[in-house]
Amino acid sequence: MEKREQLYEGKAKKVFATDDPEKVIVSYKDDATAFDGLKKGTIAGKGVVNNRMSNFLMQILEKNGVPTHFVEELSDRETVVKKVEIVKLEVIIRNISAGSFAKRFGVEEGIVFDEPTIEFSYKNDDLHDPLMNAYHAIALKVATREEIEQIKAYAFKVNEVMKAYFLKLGVKLVDFKLEFGRLSDGTVVLADEISPDTCRFWDAETNEKLDKDRFRRDLGNVEDAYAEMMRRVFGE
Ligand code: UDP
Repeated sequence: MEKREQLYEGKAKKVFATDDPEKVIVSYKDDATAFDGLKKGTIAGKGVVNNRMSNFLMQILEKNGVPTHFVEELSDRETVVKKVEIVKLEVIIRNISAGSFAKRFGVEEGIVFDEPTIEFSYKNDDLHDPLMNAYHAIALKVATREEIEQIKAYAFKVNEVMKAYFLKLGVKLVDFKLEFGRLSDGTVVLADEISPDTCRFWDAETNEKLDKDRFRRDLGNVEDAYAEMMRRVFGE
């Protein structure tokens, strides 16, 4: 697979064309942003953790019936993925109250829900990713009703599989964000990444935060948290 011109540079990743029009190469950076890009920094080694963890989880999810964009890991930071058109929805699943949920509803963090919740945000930086419900998404042609039903089913499946997987590693899956994409034939697949940047992970015993909240909230030991999640998943 030949790496060609850079197509895009985002906050945490670069995307390159390849000799195959249906595939691109993603390259994970150590750059970190939070609060709508207002807070910027770097987390040494983050790109490696996110690349490897995301690829590993996507392969587990494929085996559990969730199609993903994953094709092949090329190196610590680079992966071949299927080229998709990203559905402009951020899909958030929550098992425990935290972050914007706790703030919006005026509740403490750590309330364990009887059932997971799902919410969508419209992926639009200029508008600061406003909340969007399924009817809004259909009205604005962000996705069809059928796509939304498919995305919801996949998202809850991802939660079921990941929640059980991380609990075995002594980690509570608090909440996470997923993005989906359309292949050239319109098939919806899981895309983007699943990593400590996009999930909240709490130690099952101590509730210590093992994710990007350490960066967002200046809790210190940010690199250690990423390294600890790497160790739990890969034993290294
Ligand atoms: N999240 C993300 N990207 C975003 C917003 C949220 O990956 O642009 C993830 C975040 O890491 C957390 C979950 O989605 O695991 C829920 O985030 P929340 O809505 O609580 O927002 P936050 O408090 O992170 O602003």
